[in-house]
Formats: sequence, C-alpha cells, structure tokens
Amino acid sequence: MIIKPRFRDFICVTAHPDGCKKNVDMQIDYVKKDKISNKFKRVLIIGASTGYGLSSRIVSTFGWDASTIGVVFEKPGTENRTATAGWYNTVAFERRAIEEGHYAKTINGDAFSEAIKAKTIELIKNDLGKIDLVIYSIASPRRKHPITGELSYSALKPVGESFKNKSVNFHTFEVSDVEIQPANDNEIEQTINVMGGEDLEMWVDKLLNAEVLEKGANVISYSYIGPKITYPIYRNGTIGKAKEDLERVSSKVNEKLKQIGGSAYISINKGLVTQSSSAIPVVPLYISLLGKVLKEKNLEEDSVQQIYRLYSEIASGNVIVDDRGRLRIDDREMRADVQGKIAELWDKVTTENIQQITDINIFRNDFFKLFGFGYEGIDYEKDSETNIEILNLV
Ligand code: NAD
Repeated sequence: MIIKPRFRDFICVTAHPDGCKKNVDMQIDYVKKDKISNKFKRVLIIGASTGYGLSSRIVSTFGWDASTIGVVFEKPGTENRTATAGWYNTVAFERRAIEEGHYAKTINGDAFSEAIKAKTIELIKNDLGKIDLVIYSIASPRRKHPITGELSYSALKPVGESFKNKSVNFHTFEVSDVEIQPANDNEIEQTINVMGGEDLEMWVDKLLNAEVLEKGANVISYSYIGPKITYPIYRNGTIGKAKEDLERVSSKVNEKLKQIGGSAYISINKGLVTQSSSAIPVVPLYISLLGKVLKEKNLEEDSVQQIYRLYSEIASGNVIVDDRGRLRIDDREMRADVQGKIAELWDKVTTENIQQITDINIFRNDFFKLFGFGYEGIDYEKDSETNIEILNLV
C-alpha cells in the first residue's frame, strides 16, 4: 500500500513503517557512539513504544546492554490499514535488538489492567527472574479502572479560572488567542485517575508481592513542569494536578521500595514534540520557541539525547536533584536566559512572523516524523507492507 499521512483532528491516523524504522535507527546510532556502564541489566519499560519510553528502551538496550521488557498499547496493521507508529517503532526496535544479540520482548495491551500486569510478571519470572529498573512512561487520554471498571478521561484544562493566551494551529501556522474554560471537579478527578499515581503504585505493589524486583531496584517515572507561560494549562492545570499526584505517589512508592533497598524517582524531562504534547493547547507554540532558542544556544536535545544524558548522569552520580528529590534533566529548558528569550519572543509572535521567529516548521516536521513521514532517503511513493509482526510479542 502507498502510505500517506491522514488526519483526524490533530491525530495522524496512518504511520509509515520505513520512516518509523529510520527514527528508531537514528536513535540507536546516537546511543551506540558511547556505551554507559551501569548496574541496571534487566529493565521493564511501561509505555515503551513512542516518545520518552521508546528512547528509554533504546538507551537501556544499546547503551547499557540491558535486557528489556516493553509494555505498550498499540494497534497492528492489516493488509489495507497501517499499524500505529508505536507498533512500527517496536517492530524496528526488536529487530535491531535481536539481530545484535539483546533480549527484548514486548507485551501489547492495557498496562492499567490486572491482566497485563499479571502477564508481565509471568514473563519476568520465566525469562529474567527479576527486574533492576522500572521506567514508568505512560501518557494516555483514558483509563479503565482495573477494579471498578470505571472509565476516566483526562482533560487538558486550567483549574480555578479560565486561561487565555496565544496558541498556534501547527498545520496552518495561524496564531490566535484561545480561551479555555476551567475544569470542573469531576474533570480534575478523572484526569488524576488517568495520569496520576494510582497505577504506578498498583504496578509496584504487584511487582513487590511477586518478588520480581531485584535488591536495590529503582523505579523512575517521568514528569514535566515547564515555564510560567504554560503553568495555567500545564503545571497548574488538570494535567499538573495529575503529575503532582504521580510525584506524591512516587514518594510513597519510594518508602515501600526500602524493604528491598530500592528507590523511586521522578525525572523531570524537557518539553518536546510527542503525540501527547502536541495535543495540549499553547504547548506547540511554546515548544517551537523553545526549540529555536535552545538551538541558538547550542543546548537543544531530543528525547534520546535527554534519556542518554539522564542515564549517563545517574551512572556518574552527576544528576541534578532538586529540593523535592526530583531528578532534573529540564535544566537547559529552565535556564533563566532561555526562558527570558522565550518570554520576549512570545509577546511578539504573530501569524505573519511565526515562521521567522520560531521553529514552527521544525515542530511540524518533527510531528510528521513521529509517524514516520518526512524522512530523507525514503521513497514515500513506493508500495509498503503494512502488516508487519513484532518478533517477540508475548
Ligand atoms: P507518548 O505519547 O509518546 O508515549 C506514551 C506511551 O504510553 C506509548 O508507548 C503508548 O503505547 C503507552 N501507553 C499509553 N496508554 C497505555 C496503556 N493503557 N497501556 C500501555 N501502554 C500505554 O508520550 P510521551 O510524551 O513520551 O510521555 C511519556 C511520559 O513522559 C509522560 O509521563 C509524560 O508526562 C512525560 N513527559 C513528556 C514530556 C513531553 O514534552 N512530551 C516532557 C516531560 C515529561
């Protein structure tokens, strides 16, 4: 089938297997430049198929020579429908991992469910015995509660009062003011149900009970803070309430892990283009300014560079830890000079000048690349096989 990008709202509903492979290969090539020595040899990544989770799996495998189990929630392709990008990423990742002699198996299903947790534990017991590191990198718009069966949906809204600011439609480059009404209590609660810490605690409880965490095991969950410009919609909004809950639960989990001499951490990562972040109002404009300013200062990092730095700094003991015990790899994003420049440009940006003063073109290209489109060296006019198997799907 000849595969072209096709959209429903902001979501690209097609993905290109060759482009997804190129994305994975480029990340692997970056990581293979220098190996990182580390004690984590068996890694479980929950949310391993795109964004930060995929990069964590790649750095674990090709940077640390670790064995990985990835839990993902992706759709396979058929003869006349493409798979999701995360499916093709996983196909490409596993092929490379296996070719190069690494253990890598993938579980595809709802990580929030009891069944997928049980399946993961069985696989760990059968194949790896124990896990040294758990990476929790889920971003989801909904969650079915594993006990009550209740469905919750996450909202991307401010809390308390409405929020008006500039936003960009990154397909038309039109800048306009958006006003978003505040969430009600139910929307806040539902967002916490989806993206808060309850599921993380359920995972750790089950892994501890099954005795599949090695002595000294670590659990790292990813979070985001961002600058004042995005506070109303992010950190002080519904998603920020969920992240606060995740961070609170991570401290609780840290206490529980003491029984095996382990620790739980939150890593605050930088904002970048992923399927999740491009859906948040205001954020694409901010990220396209952030990219421009970081590049000018030679400070820009993509997801694999962020995770490579996180793992290297953990290994060397140089990771920045803030007063709340969170690991900070958003230090370059949060530098006063970077944020000062963004604030200055933010006031000036209009539909007329957006392509000059921001990296909106790159944002848009990076968005397409998430789905495997827009890579050089790929013939997008040629027939591609859409129905490709993940080799080690359990
Ligand atoms: P993403 O959308 O690229 O990846 C989400 C992953 O979660 C995918 O592998 C997907 O398959 C998996 N997933 C979703 N629902 C699932 C389910 N029910 N069961 C199993 N797997 C499921 O997201 P991302 O932007 O990489 O975000 C990952 C984490 O990093 C989130 O906690 C996010 O808040 C955090 N983070 C993101 C940014 C950013 O700018 N993108 C910045 C800092 C921190």
